[in-house]
This record gives sequence, structure tokens and C-alpha cells, in this order.
Amino acid sequence: MGQFAVIGLGRFGAATSLELMRLGHSVLGVDADKKIVDQHAEQLTRAAIADVTDRNALAELGLVHYDVVLVAIGEDLQASLVCTVHLKALGVADVWVKASSRAHHLILNKLGVSRIIHPEEEMGLRIAQVLSYPMVNDYIALGNGEFVVEIEASEKLDGRTLGDALTTEPPGIIQALAVKRKIETTTHPPDQFVLRARDTLILLGPLQQLKMAAPKLS
Ligand code: ATP
Repeated sequence: MGQFAVIGLGRFGAATSLELMRLGHSVLGVDADKKIVDQHAEQLTRAAIADVTDRNALAELGLVHYDVVLVAIGEDLQASLVCTVHLKALGVADVWVKASSRAHHLILNKLGVSRIIHPEEEMGLRIAQVLSYPMVNDYIALGNGEFVVEIEASEKLDGRTLGDALTTEPPGIIQALAVKRKIETTTHPPDQFVLRARDTLILLGPLQQLKMAAPKLS
């Protein structure tokens, strides 16, 4: 279980905090607005009202003990930057910051934060990729040209074996990591595994081969 602190509980900060909680982590949410903190207090491990441009207020939160502190203040550039400078000065090792502009990114880069996030751009890329391959429900890029993709099997695959459905060139270049059927998951299914329509296939392979295989499966 990780320990995370999220500063700024706007739409991005709140959504990230709630998902971290759902994934079983401990989350401290911080915001200057009492109404916003009250709104989320019950759903988070801890919630605090603080103006994060105030170094003493930040120091009192004990943020050095958290694995990652995420600064999710977008609109107020000054507040985001001052808070980031304080966090670095307090010795917080892993600071992630949401950036709202090119200038914001540039300064954050100079401050040496661990990760700069551009939610709109990152989401835009993801949506474009999903739109261009609508048969792919979800994917993870492994960073070396390989992807893990989730594809729903169509009616035409009902009763066919996995080995028969997943013929690739060269053979075996795509690995089936799992097949999900309702609440049942079969990991590393063999070639003889008999598919049903609407099974969810989790496949690992190079993008080019996945692009060729996906339309035959869905
Ligand atoms: P969204 O994620 O909703 O798009 P946004 O990027 O527009 O939000 P803001 O609304 O600027 O971000 O800020 C998010 C939250 O950060 C708000 O709830 C706001 O109250 C809080 N916030 C802004 N300044 C401070 C500050 N100095 N100290 C603590 N919290 C702050």
C-alpha cells in the first residue's frame, strides 16, 4: 500500500485521490477551500485545510513521510510553483505536478520535479488512439514498442480455439496473457483454449502485429 498526498482537490486532484483510495492506498487530500475538503473528507484517509503557499502550514502536514506528493493546482500558477518550491525545500523526494501551460512546464522542469503531468494532452492522445482502434478497449504502452491490449472477442470467435483465432506472422509473436469471462480469469491460456463471444482477451505484443491481429478478433 502506498502513501500519497494530493494537493488541490479540483476535478483532477479529487479523481486521482478517489481512484488511489479505490486501489487500496492511503491518501491525504489538501485544499485551501474548507467546503471542498469537507466534501471529500469521508472518502479519504485524511483531509486537511491548508494554504499550501504557506511554508509552515505545509511543514505541519508531514509530507516528507509520503511516497509521492502530487500538486494538482492548475489555474493558480503562482500557488502551484510556490508550493512546489516549498515541497522541495522541505525535502519531499518525489513531487509530481500538474502543469497548465508551456511556461509552467518550463519552470517545473527547472525545479527538478519527478514528473510533470499534462492531463488534457495525455488524455487527448489516449482518446485519439482508442478512436483509431475502436476494437481495443484499453491498452498499456510498455515503452519499447510493445503494448498490452484488451480486446473483446466477437461472435465470429465463439467456439474457436485461441490458437486458431490468433494466427500471427511470425507465429507466437503475440502472447495471450489472460482471457476474462465474466468473473472468471484464465491466465496464460493454452492454444487449445476455446473462446466464447464477448470474452476479453489480454494480449502482449509489438504494436504492428497487434494492429494486424485486432481486426480479426473483434
Ligand atoms: P480541475 O482539476 O478542476 O481542472 P484546475 O486545474 O482548474 O482544476 P484549480 O481549480 O486551480 O485547478 O485548483 C484545484 C484546487 O486547488 C482547488 O480546489 C483550489 O481550492 C485548490 N487550491 C488553489 N490554490 C490553493 C492553495 N494556495 N492552497 C491550497 N489549495 C489551493
